[in-house]
Amino acid sequence: ERRNPAQPEFHQAVREVLDTLAPVFAARPEYAEPGVALLERLVEPERQIIFRVPWTDDRGRVHVNRGYRVEFNSALGPYKGGLRFHPSVDIGVVKFLGFEQIFKNALTGLGIGGGKGGSDFDPHGRSDAEVMRFCQSFMTELYRHIGEHTDVPAGDIGVGGREIGYLFGQYRRITNRWEAGVLTGKGQGWGGSLIRPEATGYGSVLFAAEMLAVKGLALDGLTAVVSGSGNVALYTIEKLQQLGANPLTASDSQGYVVDEKGIDLALLKQIKEVERGRVSEYAQRRGPSARFVPGGRVWDVAAEVAFPSATQNELTADDARTLIANGVKAVSEGANMPTTREAVHLLQAAGVSFGPGKAANAGGVAVSALEMAQNAGRVAWSAERVEAELAGIMRDIHAVSYATAERYGSAGDYVTGANIAGFERVADAMLAQGLI
Ligand code: NDP
Repeated sequence: ERRNPAQPEFHQAVREVLDTLAPVFAARPEYAEPGVALLERLVEPERQIIFRVPWTDDRGRVHVNRGYRVEFNSALGPYKGGLRFHPSVDIGVVKFLGFEQIFKNALTGLGIGGGKGGSDFDPHGRSDAEVMRFCQSFMTELYRHIGEHTDVPAGDIGVGGREIGYLFGQYRRITNRWEAGVLTGKGQGWGGSLIRPEATGYGSVLFAAEMLAVKGLALDGLTAVVSGSGNVALYTIEKLQQLGANPLTASDSQGYVVDEKGIDLALLKQIKEVERGRVSEYAQRRGPSARFVPGGRVWDVAAEVAFPSATQNELTADDARTLIANGVKAVSEGANMPTTREAVHLLQAAGVSFGPGKAANAGGVAVSALEMAQNAGRVAWSAERVEAELAGIMRDIHAVSYATAERYGSAGDYVTGANIAGFERVADAMLAQGLI
């Protein structure tokens, strides 16, 4: 903490991983050799890039934001991880996300290292032209650090298909290269993979289904509470409905909406994806079954499964107590580290199946890796094929997390299982590749 002051999210993410690694160090003494300094190297990013991003708004005023790319670990493949545009982004947030990404990417088994980036730019209320000028300025520095064999960014909060398009256009212009594999989440028709927009939300629901199956349960007929209303939340709701569950909520930073009849996904998509509006508008347009609760906690809505899909630390110990009192059976993290450590411990102690983000939301990066594979082969797979691959990957991630937890005496603890399974893959590669 003295070495990395004022980075609370990074400390939290590291502590959460280190908490669970003691048994693997006991079983595998080669990891603990002082000469290899494995943990010291693991928590120190290979490279951290911070840069100025000047841009001009529609009124001709100049703004200066800060851009980041943290290339954390490339033992298993090129750095891979999203870009986040949100006012809360700072180096500690990017490091926490990059650190998580190392283990998540290892868990997919697809040969990708860990990285993350972004900016404190706030896209809310900005015109398309402003977002484009920002993205072009951001890429004018970022381009020299990335490449299909080096570092492959994607989307995250505030970065979706529109932003990836502007970023890719500027990369192509500067480099004079058609290098589709430099970014993922591209549009269909110019190198994007089918099912990539859906992948994180779909994967999170498939992971929950696997956890429930262990207990002899299924999603069909269950009610669900979902937070967020962005990319991950929308496709979590979609897959829940496909599997016969009833998602009741969506939220944003202003509050949440609860719909007694279940969310009307077509209306929510129209408001969020087409009009770029707020969830409060959903309640106004949906009719009497829906109401908007400004500033409220979405976790107050009783449901049998929960999908935190907005942002970090959005589900606290108090929220966990409410969920438990309401009889929640499973929590699957679509977002990264949305559940505080205390809340995780409470849920696990109450016997709730808890899927940590690095396992449960790995479907997004997994399909990004499939997009890279399609780009490398200059082919486009069918939606059915990508979705079948995604389903297989989520099953495998669940199976390895479950089996690893069991092997280390923590049956049913997916946090321990996912951390150790991801860690072993990265650690073995780092040991084999020597002191770098
Ligand atoms: P989006 O930008 O599409 O949506 C984010 C949603 O979360 C919005 O509804 C937003 O509301 C809300 N939100 C963001 N920050 C806050 C905050 N500080 N307080 C309250 N609400 C907030 O992002 P994504 O759906 O892509 O990402 C959501 C989460 O999923 C993140 O944790 C991300 O890291 C994680 N994730 C995303 C992946 C992907 O493929 N996109 C892959 C793996 C994980 P508002 O509009 O009001 O800000």
